[in-house]
Amino acid sequence: MLPRTERPRIDAHAHIAPSVTRQQVHDLGNAFVFGMTRSLDEARQVVRRVDTNVLWGVGTHPAVAESRDAYRPEAFRKALEYFAVVGEVGLDRRGPREQQRTILDSVLDECHDAPVLISLHSTGRTSELLEALERRPHPGAILHWFTGGPTDLRRALDLGCYFSVNGAMPPETVSAIPADRLLTETDFPSSRRKIGARLPGDTTKAEELIAASHPGSQPRALIHDNLRRILSVTGALDRLNAQQAALLYPVETEPLLPPVSDGSRNDHQN
Ligand SMILES: [Zn+2]
Repeated sequence: MLPRTERPRIDAHAHIAPSVTRQQVHDLGNAFVFGMTRSLDEARQVVRRVDTNVLWGVGTHPAVAESRDAYRPEAFRKALEYFAVVGEVGLDRRGPREQQRTILDSVLDECHDAPVLISLHSTGRTSELLEALERRPHPGAILHWFTGGPTDLRRALDLGCYFSVNGAMPPETVSAIPADRLLTETDFPSSRRKIGARLPGDTTKAEELIAASHPGSQPRALIHDNLRRILSVTGALDRLNAQQAALLYPVETEPLLPPVSDGSRNDHQN
């Protein structure tokens, strides 16, 4: 097993162009990135990609009118079986409440029992998003850039939600989230300036924030433990391709068979 410090950074919410080249993905370095899509059309463009360090999502961004208008439950249902992540989906204060809620309810209905993680956007409509989740809870729910208050935080924790946090979030929000519900994100690129992430996967600031708000924690190891748990509980782990699984969970490089002993090496060595 690699030393824990060399495990990849985890970016549970970033936007990457579907046309990204293999070289560009490679240049993300030692990172494992959830690549959000904003529409079913974008998801269609990435569905055949086989990337080691990008786990693509199927999404419909609540603030993008064309994406909302193009959402079809049947199309989402068909796409869903090819993805381990759903995102970006959710609610946003920009845009018609009713249409957004209809789509979110449909997404959550389709995701019921599906082995996926769901990256949820809730800007300005956090309580309503939690209401939708209370109606149809999911063990893979990850609230991205949570901005709710203590009451909504309590509701989200009761629902079993995880939280992907970034370097621009207030420290008091991050410290209020229990360590075992934390994941890291960049939300690249829209908030590059605020978050200070140079590239998708650059979660340095988020890890620093976790280290400061949860004294004594080891953010990288913590996030890996949390990711492993949510991937296992949902069954999404089985949807990772072989290279992704090997990146996150390298097998030990012990020899398969014990060395043959001829009895001459039993002398004590220091
Ligand atoms: Zn996003």
